[in-house]
Amino acid sequence: MKYISTRRVAGDTTGATTERSFCEILLEGLAPDGGLYLPTHYPHIDDATLTQWRGLAYHELAFELLSLFIDDIPRADLRALVGKTYTAAVFGTPQIVPLRALEPGVYLEALSNGPTLAFKDMAMQLLGNLFEYELARRGQTLNILGATSGDTGSAAEYAMRGKVGINVFMLSPKGRMSPFQQAQMFSLHDANIHNIAVEGVFDDCQDIVKAVSNDLAFKRAHRIGTVNSINWARLLAQVVYYFAGYFQATRTNNEQVSFAVPSGNFGNICAGHVARMMGLPTRQLVLATNENNVLDEFVRTGTYRVRASSETHETSSPSMDISKASNFERFVFDLLGRDGARTRDLFQNEVERTGSFKVTADEFARIPGYGFVSGTSTHADRVALIRSTHERFATIIDTHTADGLKVAREHLIAGVPMIVLETALPAKFAETIQEAIGRAPDRPASMQGIEDLPKRFTVMAPDALAVKRYIEQHVEQHVEQHAG
Ligand SMILES: *Cc1c(COP(=O)(O)O)cnc(C)c1O
Repeated sequence: MKYISTRRVAGDTTGATTERSFCEILLEGLAPDGGLYLPTHYPHIDDATLTQWRGLAYHELAFELLSLFIDDIPRADLRALVGKTYTAAVFGTPQIVPLRALEPGVYLEALSNGPTLAFKDMAMQLLGNLFEYELARRGQTLNILGATSGDTGSAAEYAMRGKVGINVFMLSPKGRMSPFQQAQMFSLHDANIHNIAVEGVFDDCQDIVKAVSNDLAFKRAHRIGTVNSINWARLLAQVVYYFAGYFQATRTNNEQVSFAVPSGNFGNICAGHVARMMGLPTRQLVLATNENNVLDEFVRTGTYRVRASSETHETSSPSMDISKASNFERFVFDLLGRDGARTRDLFQNEVERTGSFKVTADEFARIPGYGFVSGTSTHADRVALIRSTHERFATIIDTHTADGLKVAREHLIAGVPMIVLETALPAKFAETIQEAIGRAPDRPASMQGIEDLPKRFTVMAPDALAVKRYIEQHVEQHVEQHAG
């Protein structure tokens, strides 16, 4: 399998059109032309294969699926990497993503029983093992630099802790994460994990990451990398649980299901799109947004309009608070018949210049053919859904999952199971749960009392130069430790 950029233009002579293999793009972010990587085609899963996959354990299913997209890691090695990633010890149950019925025809698929209690662990845990493997194979090291306001940073740290050849430098706005999220990250004492609390807001953290990454000499000298959601390996890992959910909700391949996906950067639901393109019998991909409804607006109107920071709301489902959706270009590329020149035009020229684009009437008419429908959920919806789900089914759901369930209910089709992806556990968002049901949610044993653990972090001014000095010092130390 080879990978191409969504901005690939036929006849381009800059080298940006070169097809790459999986391990070549594994450690990269954007393609050199600014596009996102996608496979040259989606392998088709026929009926016999689907039947065979139905009986597999999660790690076996993951291996079979991944090996269709990864042909430059020996099969035995890939099998071992996947096998050590998806274990009951890490994800809490042997099924890894158990399905539970809420009411007839509506299910929750649990994607959030990993170490940080959010679905990002599903992909990030695999990424940690893939990175460690590939870096060892190349004899290289990597320094991951990131900015976080919550879930991504902690998922990355828990995936990379203790990994040979990898350091993590994670910037977060000082005092602005929830005490729980802060404790999750700051209680890690692994030598290769560096928490940097920046005296500023999330945008300051992101600006620093950009400034450091734009210093190409520094970036190369210190082997700076990222683990953001545009990474293809993360998206690929997420395709697996769409298949696993389907197998649990159906008995034969003649049945279709729908998935409802609480969405922000379009990474999760894009994996659903890939699964559907591979032939997974999917009726609808229900895209749920919160008040930051950039994507709902697109599905309903065909206009994609990036929001200014002043228009971006801070909500009680904070992991969906986006101003633009960084994986969205992948779907648009497919929608436009994989026309890289037009994709480039829309994202590079239109969005950069005017902040928005509108697809043609013909292109807009094709969206339902990809299964997409959508809706928006608000704080009041979230609270009402958490309350009624608790009353009716004695189940506590988190705020993001509540957004998914709200929009799922608007699109139910008789006879088609609706699988709502549970993207976080309620324990992470205790304040809103308290508001909805009058008490705080229970915490998993692993997270009890984490606010009281000793914390390890460094406070810094919002200053890219200071962050660079810090990285230099701590990378050297790491190398010396290895040498000694
Ligand atoms: C990241 C996240 C989302 C949004 O997922 P995308 O892939 O960005 O669309 C939804 N819910 C939770 C809990 C998350 O952490």
